[in-house]
Amino acid sequence: MTESLKGKTVVLGITGSIAAYKGAEVARRLMDLGADVHATLTRAGAEFITPLTLRTLTGNPVTTDMFADPQEWHVKHVGLAQRAAAVVVAPASANAIAALSLGLAHEFIYAVALATPAPLVVAPAMNDGMYGHRAVQEHLRRLRAGGARIVEPETGRLASGAVGQGRLAATEAITQAVVEVCGERDLSGVKLLVTAGPTREPLDAVRFLSNRSSGRMGYAVAEAAARRGAEVTLVSGPTALPAPPACEVVRVETAEEMRAEVLRRFPECEVLVAAAAVADYAPEERARGKLKKGTGSLRISLRPTPDILAECGKLRKKGQFLVGFAAETEDLLANARKKLAAKNLDMIVANDVSQPGTGFDSERNAGYLLFADARQVELPAMEKATFADHLLDAVVEGRRPRRARRG
Ligand code: C5P
Repeated sequence: MTESLKGKTVVLGITGSIAAYKGAEVARRLMDLGADVHATLTRAGAEFITPLTLRTLTGNPVTTDMFADPQEWHVKHVGLAQRAAAVVVAPASANAIAALSLGLAHEFIYAVALATPAPLVVAPAMNDGMYGHRAVQEHLRRLRAGGARIVEPETGRLASGAVGQGRLAATEAITQAVVEVCGERDLSGVKLLVTAGPTREPLDAVRFLSNRSSGRMGYAVAEAAARRGAEVTLVSGPTALPAPPACEVVRVETAEEMRAEVLRRFPECEVLVAAAAVADYAPEERARGKLKKGTGSLRISLRPTPDILAECGKLRKKGQFLVGFAAETEDLLANARKKLAAKNLDMIVANDVSQPGTGFDSERNAGYLLFADARQVELPAMEKATFADHLLDAVVEGRRPRRARRG
C-alpha cells in the first residue's frame, strides 16, 4: 500500500448527515494512507456517531464542542489549521455547505476551514431534493470558485428510501481527492507571473489591431498555479474571462502597457509564463478621433512592438524560470527551438495553430514542451486546464536541481 499521505496532517470534519458513520471509514482510509487524522464532529454530527469511535480509530483527541475547553480551543483551531495539509468535510450536510460558503465559524471545523491556507475537500451527502435545491447548488458553486474540491455525491438509494443523487461518494473517491489536493501544493509560496490574452494596438479612437487569442491558456495556468499554492500575478490583455480565484489580476491593453507591468514585476518573480499573444506590430501613429472613410486605399505604417519575453530573457537572474509560447503554422519544432534559444528561455510550449480545434480561441490545446537541455515532451489534445497542469508539472520538475530530477 502506498503511503501517499505520510507525514501529512488531515483535519476531517463530520457533520450532521445520516452518512456520518461513513466518516469513520474515511478516517480509517486516510490513516491507511499515512495521514495524521484529526477528526472533529459538529454538534449535529455527534448525534450520529460518537467521538469515542473516532478517537479510537485516529489515536487523536476529537473536538466536538469548540467551547468545552475555552483555554485551548482558540490555539487549537489555529494550530491545526496551520499544520493541516488538507481539510476534509465528509459527509457535508446542506447546513455545512452553507456555513463553509458563507464563512460562518460557529463549529470547530468551520473555524478551521476559515483559518487554514490548506485546500478544502467537501463531500456532500443529503436527500436528493435538498441537494438539487438552488441554495445548495449556489453554495457549492461558490465553494468551487474559491478553489474547494467538491466530491460529487452518487446516485442511488437514499436514507429516505427514494432513489436520487445525494449519497455520499465512495470512500476511495474522497481519499483520492485528498491525495490529489495534497500533491498539488507543489508550488507553495512560489511567485509566478503569467501573461495572457491578446493586446490591442490602437489605430484611431475606435479601431485597433489585435488577434484571436481568448486568454484561456494563460488564465488556466494562473488558476492551476494558484490552486497549487503559487502567489500568482496575471497580467492580462483584454479578454472576456472572469478573474481566476486567488490571483492578482492586472489588466492592460497594449503591448507597451503589458511590457511596463511585466517589467515592474519581473525582478520579484521566480517563474514567468508568457502565454500572451502580444502583437508583433503596432500602428506607427494613432489618429486622433476616428479615421474618416475615403475612396482610395488606406496605408497604415506599422512599427515593431517590444519583445517583452526577450527583454525578460536578457534581464533574468539566477533561479528564475522562464516559459514562452510559440504559435506556429509551419516548421513548428524548429521555429520553437529557435525562439527558446533567442529569448533565453528554460522551456517553450510549441503549438501548431494550423490544426483546427486546439490552440487559439479554443477550449483545448495540444503541442510540445521543449526544454533548454534539448528534452522534448509531446502533449496530445486536452482541456486547457489539464494542459496547464502538465505545463506546471514540467516547471516544478525543471526548477529542481539537476541531480534531483527524475530519470
Ligand atoms: O516571437 P513570438 O511572438 O512568436 O514569441 C512568442 C512568445 O513571446 C510568447 O511567449 C509571447 O508571450 C512572447 N512575446 C512577448 N512580447 C512580444 C511578442 C511575444 O512577450 N512582443
